Amino acid sequence: MPEVTDPRRTPDVDAVVVGSGPNGLVAAVALAQAGWRVLVLEAAAQPGGGTRTEEVTLPGFRHDICSTAHPMAMASPAFRALDLARESLAFAQPELPVAHPLAPGRSAVLRRDVAATAAGLGRDGPRWERVMGALAGDVDRMLAGVLDPTHLPPHEPLWTLAFGATGLWPATAVDRFALRDESARALLAGSAAHSVLDLSSLLTTGVGALLLALGHRHGWPFAVGGSQAIADALVARLQSLGGEVRCGHRVTAMADLPAARAVLFDLTPRQVLAITGDRFQGRYRRRLEGWRYGAGSFKVDWALDGPVPWADPDLAGAGILHLGGPSEDLAGAGILHLGGPSEEVIAAERTVARGGLPERPFVLFGQFAPGFRERILARHVMGPAALEAHNANEIGGDIGGGRADWRQLAARPVLSTSPWATPDPRLFLCSSSTLPGGGVHGMCGWNAARTVLHRLG
Ligand SMILES: Cc1cc2nc3c(=O)[nH]c(=O)nc-3n(C[C@H](O)[C@H](O)[C@H](O)COP(=O)(O)OP(=O)(O)OC[C@H]3O[C@@H](n4cnc5c(N)ncnc54)[C@H](O)[C@@H]3O)c2cc1C
Repeated sequence: MPEVTDPRRTPDVDAVVVGSGPNGLVAAVALAQAGWRVLVLEAAAQPGGGTRTEEVTLPGFRHDICSTAHPMAMASPAFRALDLARESLAFAQPELPVAHPLAPGRSAVLRRDVAATAAGLGRDGPRWERVMGALAGDVDRMLAGVLDPTHLPPHEPLWTLAFGATGLWPATAVDRFALRDESARALLAGSAAHSVLDLSSLLTTGVGALLLALGHRHGWPFAVGGSQAIADALVARLQSLGGEVRCGHRVTAMADLPAARAVLFDLTPRQVLAITGDRFQGRYRRRLEGWRYGAGSFKVDWALDGPVPWADPDLAGAGILHLGGPSEDLAGAGILHLGGPSEEVIAAERTVARGGLPERPFVLFGQFAPGFRERILARHVMGPAALEAHNANEIGGDIGGGRADWRQLAARPVLSTSPWATPDPRLFLCSSSTLPGGGVHGMCGWNAARTVLHRLG
């Protein structure tokens, strides 16, 4: 088959996107909107990548295999521009975005309302109200800059700098020197732990603060029908624009691709190198070869015969629970951060970052409690290898497309004003291994498509 970059060959399509994760699909839609003929090739039997929903326990029980909470999708400029409500995509808001059980009957709780949250945070309440109130009010504008690094908000440079200077700090430093009580410390540590980094790493405060501010501003909603609804809405939009998604089509070499003006890889650097062979050389190749992947995650899905019997009534309405501490007596919430007090979360993440298995791991939980065991009908467990088998992008169970420490955020995957482009003018990267990184926001794909249109359009 003629090579995709052979300019003598009349292209079969204008663009091929390899991989149908949210970034691949957003890139495909953005190109199709510009009038390009787009083909998406997907290895799995169903589109969506990290937004797939599947029946992995019992018939009729649909589980979000990867992403489930979508504050980033709510705030994403790409998702806003695409207005996927037109494809019937809807989000459901749990009453509480996040809860973090601390002791039987006692939890730190993030509410949509900043003042109501602050009221439950003891001596840290006034500071929370001041700082998070300002952050939540400005988070959309600021996020437009974070998610689209080519478009830093020009109107609030001082404010952006101020957030940058605070967010740069390790979460351990803020835990130790800025916060005084267990509840606020637990909320920050649990949210910062979404970075899957040692919490003494730079920028972990920024990750935690951003997720908390998004919780205030947009909640941490679930997609109605499961995260698959996000992929389905994107596929529907693509098809309405004449694009096609072909599933069960794993790309292993450039020769697997039809001729096209551009190829966008919704893949991580290791896979891109395997497919492109010796096409990339020099510094760019070395950079992709040296790409570091994050710590592996572990996922358990349960089918239950009723709601989780939480003992803490507050948790009944929560969206995400951060679990890890004394969770036995809790009663009902959406997402929990299970991890106990902040020092336990910090210790667990440090162990993981050093390659160990913590005795009390930090757990992101969508429901747990006394009597929980009796409610279990079936269970499905995925360790790092199973995650990678499910989605080749999740190398070693890394859910973020590569470590998101400050080095690999500054150069994702290369230090460039256009990190979606490669030295080959027809090949582009659009996965979460590019800026702005992991999460379901589609902005890697959006930025990549704009780069393609700018360079080849
Ligand atoms: C357990 C877990 C929980 C998560 N929770 C959340 C959450 O709550 N909220 C959130 O915002 N994010 C969450 N994430 C992260 C989110 O899912 C990812 O950041 C996001 O899906 C990345 O999108 P992507 O398009 O870059 O890649 P992916 O979604 O990984 O898609 C890549 C696609 O490429 C396909 N592919 C791979 N190799 C090939 C090949 N050779 N040929 C063809 N196709 C190929 C894969 O099958 C896959 O469909 C979670 C991830 C995991 C694993």
